[in-house]
This record gives sequence, structure tokens and C-alpha cells, in this order.
Amino acid sequence: MTSLDPRAPLVLDTRELGRRPGSQRQVTLTVPAPADLGIEVLTVPEGSPVELDLRLEAVMEGVLVTGTAKAGLEGECARCLEPIRDDVEVELQELFVYDDIRDSEGAEEDDEVSMLRDDLVDLEPLLRDAVVLALPFQPLCMPDCPGLCPECGARLADDPDHAHEAAIDPRWAALSKLADDTQQPEQTEP
Ligand SMILES: [Zn+2]
Ligand SMILES: [Zn+2]
Repeated sequence: MTSLDPRAPLVLDTRELGRRPGSQRQVTLTVPAPADLGIEVLTVPEGSPVELDLRLEAVMEGVLVTGTAKAGLEGECARCLEPIRDDVEVELQELFVYDDIRDSEGAEEDDEVSMLRDDLVDLEPLLRDAVVLALPFQPLCMPDCPGLCPECGARLADDPDHAHEAAIDPRWAALSKLADDTQQPEQTEP
């Protein structure tokens, strides 16, 4: 069993609660974001503030943690690669089971169950899961981002009327096709 570092920003001490079911404590704090919080294309920058607004409640088996976490996001648009800044707010809810109760019952260590360690709860796995689930698979700078011009790579959102000459007027397109056809006999076999 690994022990937790009580000084880690996302580790909370629940001793003040006591073990009387029903006792509650409201915790509001801002902690620096851990590394790699988010997904590859959209992350909470390491060290940026994560605002936690939590309620710790003693229940029979352990401590129930509920509340919200708010953080800023940085990433890039999946279509046009424009930098994105956004916010995310996630709901957190987890029951942390008293480790000594578990041990005395002789229960096997279960990865699915979050445990208190020496009356400490580690919010980091909970926060990670909640943030990853809340993020869009493909973040966009705006809901209908038109992406990049397939011909020149320009960002179409900056220049909605963007077009290349061949596409401006169908008659011109026909002319240029005619020119191509005329040139064909001059092409040499490879
Ligand atoms: Zn975009
Ligand atoms: Zn273009």
C-alpha cells in the first residue's frame, strides 16, 4: 500500500471530520494543476490554478467527496490549428473507503475502490478522470470552424470569401480546361 504525501496539493486531510457519519466540511481551495491534466490536444497547463469547491462528508464506510473543479484550458483547434483557450468545469464525486475497515475485513486490494490512506484522500485520479471525460475529442476554435484551405492552408475563418482563381468563375474554369486540352498533344510520353 503506497502512502500519500500530505503536502501534495491534491491530497486532503480528512481527520478534522472525525468518523461520525453525517459530519461535513466544506473545502474551497485553489491548487496548481498537475502535469498532463487533459488530453493531447487540450490540457490544463501544468501549474495553472484549479479551483476546487468540495464537500467532504463522513459516511459509514468512509468519506464521500462531492463538488466541482474549475480550470483553464489551452490547446489547438482540430481543424484550423488556431490556439484555443477555454475553461472546463467538472463535477467530482467519489467515496473514499477507510483503509482500516477494508483491511480488517480482509478484503483484497481493489483498484476500483478509492481508499483513504492514513485519513488522507488523493483527489488527483478523480480530477484526471473527470477532466478527460469532460473534454471534447476534437476541440474546435468555434462550433462550425471551416478549417484550412485545402489549396493554400489559409485559415478560412479569417477569410470567409477566400477562393482561388480557378474556383471564382465556372467560365474561367472551363477556359483553363480548354487551355489544358489544347496543350495535351504537345505533351511527350514519359
Ligand atoms: Zn478552427
Ligand atoms: Zn487557399
